[in-house]
Amino acid sequence: MPDAALSLHTLTCPACRRTVTQSLPPVLNAALHPAERERILNHSFFTVSCPHCGESWEILYNLLYCDPLRRFMIALQPDTKMPFPSVSHMDIPTPEQLRVVHDAEDLAEKIQQMEDPVDDRLIETAKYLFYLKIRNALPPGSLMGMPVFHRGPEGPVISLPMEIKGKGYAMGTDRLTPERLQELDRLYHPLISAELPGGFREIGRDYARRLVEFCRRNPTG
Ligand SMILES: [Zn+2]
Repeated sequence: MPDAALSLHTLTCPACRRTVTQSLPPVLNAALHPAERERILNHSFFTVSCPHCGESWEILYNLLYCDPLRRFMIALQPDTKMPFPSVSHMDIPTPEQLRVVHDAEDLAEKIQQMEDPVDDRLIETAKYLFYLKIRNALPPGSLMGMPVFHRGPEGPVISLPMEIKGKGYAMGTDRLTPERLQELDRLYHPLISAELPGGFREIGRDYARRLVEFCRRNPTG
């Protein structure tokens, strides 16, 4: 497996045009590089800083994030025209779950989802349902952000920033209580139980929307 130290790239600073050397590892093993995992979660991993003039900018590239202990991999694929990475030749245990995301924020959130005991497919479904609920409740002219999952001190929670017309900024939160998770599991688990072997799957908003719409057309009671 390529090591972080072996993947140094030479970049040109967009401000001063001088040369900056940066490590851009194609594969990141979270078990071997916990500090790099932390940098992805706090959104500094993809930031390059110029040592000459102090300019900083973001560089996104195809990255395979592996967690051999929790047995998942996430392919960050900012350019959808680039092929999925091949995992067959890597000397890490066969992952049970393969996911693909397209930007740095989604990678940070997907890591938290995959590390969480709650199934990420249920999390995405809960996020979409919360989005629909808020969208239907807001007065016309309001603005919505995107729902984000995280585990707070009181358990798993979905946050959704919004700007309510005439009232200003607000943060909506949906706590995924055991009862709520049980209800989601009862409604959606029969539809999500099969994990496709070997293929990277995009489990995000579109996946959740299809799942919710299918469930509404085929109610199981
Ligand atoms: Zn510079």
